[in-house]
Amino acid sequence: MTTKTSTKGQPEETKTSFSYTAEPDSTQMEAENKILRETVAQLQQELIKYQQPALMICEVVEAIDNNRHAIIKVPNGNQFFVNVAAGCETLAYGDSVLCEQKNLMALKKVPPMKKFDIEKFVIIEKPTMGWDQIGGLADQIRDVKEVIELPLQKPELFKKVGIDPPKGLLLYGPPGTGKTILAKAVAASTNSTFIEIVGSELVQKFIGEGAKLVKEVFQLAREKAPSIIFIDEIDSLAAKRIELGTSGEREVQRTFMQFLAELDGFKRLDNVKIIAATNRKDILDPAILRPGRLDRHIHVPQPTGEGIKEVLKIHTRNMKLSKSIDMDRLAKEMEGFSGAEIKSACTESGYFAIRQDKFHVGQKEFLAAIKKVKNSEEFKENQAHMAMYG
Ligand code: ATP
Repeated sequence: MTTKTSTKGQPEETKTSFSYTAEPDSTQMEAENKILRETVAQLQQELIKYQQPALMICEVVEAIDNNRHAIIKVPNGNQFFVNVAAGCETLAYGDSVLCEQKNLMALKKVPPMKKFDIEKFVIIEKPTMGWDQIGGLADQIRDVKEVIELPLQKPELFKKVGIDPPKGLLLYGPPGTGKTILAKAVAASTNSTFIEIVGSELVQKFIGEGAKLVKEVFQLAREKAPSIIFIDEIDSLAAKRIELGTSGEREVQRTFMQFLAELDGFKRLDNVKIIAATNRKDILDPAILRPGRLDRHIHVPQPTGEGIKEVLKIHTRNMKLSKSIDMDRLAKEMEGFSGAEIKSACTESGYFAIRQDKFHVGQKEFLAAIKKVKNSEEFKENQAHMAMYG
C-alpha cells in the first residue's frame, strides 16, 4: 500500500488489492501477536532439536545398584560402566537403551529393535527341478530320497516302526558334481521351501552377525516349513580348528557353536531338514558329523562311463544335434569332466555352431568345445583339486 498527498495537503490512501482499516482494532492485533509468539516458540523448539547431539543405541549387559548404574555395550562391542538417569525404566540384560554420546549415561529404554530381516541375507526359493535332470547319480538320489523325502512325506512310517530319521545329511565330493541340484530336487519333490546359505559368506560377509544369522535361518525354516536348509561350503564354518587366536577365528567358532546348538535344538521329525555340502570332508570338525547331527554322509563323485553319457543326454536334450554325432566318442573325450563341465561343453558347442552360422551342432563343434573346456583355468583347477583331495 502506498500513500500520496491530496490536493488539500492531507495524506490520501491509494487503493490496493487488499484493504484493512488504517487502525486495526486491538483484538485483531492481539490475535496476530499471539500467532507470532506461537510461531517463534515453535521455531525455538526446532532450533533446540537441531542443536541436540544424537543419542547412541546401546545394549544393556547388566543393571547394577537398583538401576542406578549399568554395564552397557556400545555398537562397536566395547563395554562401559555408566550412570542411569533417574527417570529411566528398570533395565535388564538384552534391553536396548538410549545413551548420551559424551558420557554414555543411560537415558531411556527403547522397544526392541526391529527383527533382523533374514530374508535379505539368504536365497529362498521353491525349486521346480526334477530328478530326471540329474544324471549318473542313481544311488545318491535313492539315499537322498530315503533320508529327506521319506520322513517329510511319511513321518508316520518312522513313528510306527519306532526309528528316528536323520536330521540332515552331508553331500561331499568334487566341485560341480551335482550336490546343489540334488538338494534342490529333493526340495521340489517334497514341495519344500529351499533356503540356501553359503558357509564362506556367513563367516566373511556378515562379520559379527554369523551366529545371529544362523539362529534366524533356523527360525525362518520353521516358519516356512516344510523346508530344507542348504548350507554350501560347510567347511568354511565347520573346519577343525587347532587354536582360536584371532577375533575372526573366535567369530567363526561362535557361528559354528550356534549352528550345532540349532541342530541339537530341533526334533528329528520336525519338517525342517538340513543338507550341507562340501568339497573338503577331510577337514570337517567331527562334532558336526556326530550321530544326531549330520549323520548321513553321501559321496557325490565325478561321473564316469555311463554316468557321463547320462549327463550328456540331459544337457543335449533340447539341443539340435546333427545325425552324425557319436555320443560314445564324445563321452570318452569327456572322461574326467564334472557334470558342470559336461554342461559347459554342451553350451560351448552351441556357440561354435552359431559362429559358423549353423543351426545344428555337429561332432566337430562338440570336439572343439571339449578342447576349450580342457584348456580352461577352471578345469585345470578342478583337476588339481581332484589330485589333492580325491
Ligand atoms: P560346488 O561344489 O561347486 O558347489 P555342486 O556339486 O553343488 O558344485 P551343482 O551346482 O549341483 O554342483 O552343479 C552345477 C551345474 O552342473 C548344475 O546346474 C547342472 O547343470 C550341472 N550338473 C552337475 N552335476 C550334474 C549331474 N550329475 N547331472 C546333470 N547335471 C549336472
